[in-house]
Amino acid sequence: MALRGVLRTIAGDRLGFWCPGCEQMHAVTVAPHPHPWGFNGDFDKPTFTPSVHVTSGHYMLGHCGDCWCTYNAKHPDKPASFKCRSCHSFVTDGRIQFLDDCTHALAGQTVALTAPTL
Ligand SMILES: [Zn+2]
Ligand SMILES: [Zn+2]
Repeated sequence: MALRGVLRTIAGDRLGFWCPGCEQMHAVTVAPHPHPWGFNGDFDKPTFTPSVHVTSGHYMLGHCGDCWCTYNAKHPDKPASFKCRSCHSFVTDGRIQFLDDCTHALAGQTVALTAPTL
């Protein structure tokens, strides 16, 4: 793993960027991966196409049954530190545009990507 611009290269065909909404890295696959995201090749002002959609818990496609919401409802005295979430963004020109369906505080906002610190 190496930092390059605002991105982190992971294993050759994966690039990570720091999501300030989720406060974690999200990764996309790029060429030579057989199903790559489009990448403009600019590590300082990256553009990925199409959008990046990261989900957990009941937001995952095809999820059924328990999730962090039901877990926390059953354990109100000892809630998990995980949450069900959805993060849907467009990375364009070094900026990350969060769509309105994000579950975090930056939904609907656009912010500049910064180099990952982790
Ligand atoms: Zn995110
Ligand atoms: Zn849930």
